[in-house]
Amino acid sequence: MATIIDGVKVAAEVRGRAAEEVRELAAHGVTPCLAVVLVGDDPASASYVRMKERDCAEVGIESRDHRLSATTSQQELDDLIDALNADPAVHGILVQMPLPEHLDPESVIERIDPAKDVDGFHPESLGHLVRGLPGFRACTPAGVMEMLRAYDIDPSGMRAVVIGRSTIVGKPMALLLLEANATVTVCHSRTKDLEAVCREADLVVAAIGRPKMVDASYIKPGAVVIDVGINRTDEGMVGDVDFAAVEPIASAITPVPGGVGPMTRAMLMANTVAAARSAAPREQG
Ligand code: NDP
Repeated sequence: MATIIDGVKVAAEVRGRAAEEVRELAAHGVTPCLAVVLVGDDPASASYVRMKERDCAEVGIESRDHRLSATTSQQELDDLIDALNADPAVHGILVQMPLPEHLDPESVIERIDPAKDVDGFHPESLGHLVRGLPGFRACTPAGVMEMLRAYDIDPSGMRAVVIGRSTIVGKPMALLLLEANATVTVCHSRTKDLEAVCREADLVVAAIGRPKMVDASYIKPGAVVIDVGINRTDEGMVGDVDFAAVEPIASAITPVPGGVGPMTRAMLMANTVAAARSAAPREQG
């Protein structure tokens, strides 16, 4: 029987530490502030934004809500980002993705001041990750690393397989595991004999977007299995891992829901507090 890695519990610990730091910053007259930008009325995006704002309230972060209509122009969005970049009271800027089709997500991400890039998607943040320099790390892979730490799972020397190579999950996940001294293989839709590659792994991170694709045939007995997938199906939300099939052979596994998802949101809080802390001397100065 595997250890079930409880993302709800670890996320609460991360928020608790962030709340502690918020109290310390308050003593210096600083209230961390996250600007949340939502363009259009996609219900899933609106629900993510509500959850993030609720997390902010719990931690003591001020959240500023910027809701723009689905017909907002690139110029209007750029102007808002410029204003938020220039506002010293705003420490973090989050633009909820996906944007409506007529808007260019890359130029929006690049426009955000890297010092306020709490999502960790800016090229400078990613460049710092590649170079091993301090900077904001993307919340989902950072959340996975935090979970591993919380359960004393040290990737050093492990063979790790990351399935998925997106810029927001797979690639930064691979780099963070490499930084933690794992031997990392990144797989994707063109990988040949994926099951066999995964079966070599001591640690498998699935970030694919295919419900229950990773079954027992992918997993070496005793491996650690991290399921990033969020798939809405007729049977509700399921991960990329077939939990019922894999749990009996893994040594530790994250459930969906209640695994990586809550960690992603918690790391956003941690990043926002870190942004406020870095800005604090400037504000006081
Ligand atoms: P993307 O669609 O951007 O990337 C998916 C990756 O999976 C791609 O690299 C793709 O390969 C690979 N892939 C697709 N099909 C296969 C296959 N049959 N075999 C091997 N590899 C395959 O997704 P994201 O990275 O944004 O998200 C991945 C999952 O994680 C989704 O379910 C998403 O909802 C979830 N997610 C969860 C978060 C959380 O907080 N828990 C946060 C962000 C995402 P290729 O590059 O070749 O196309």
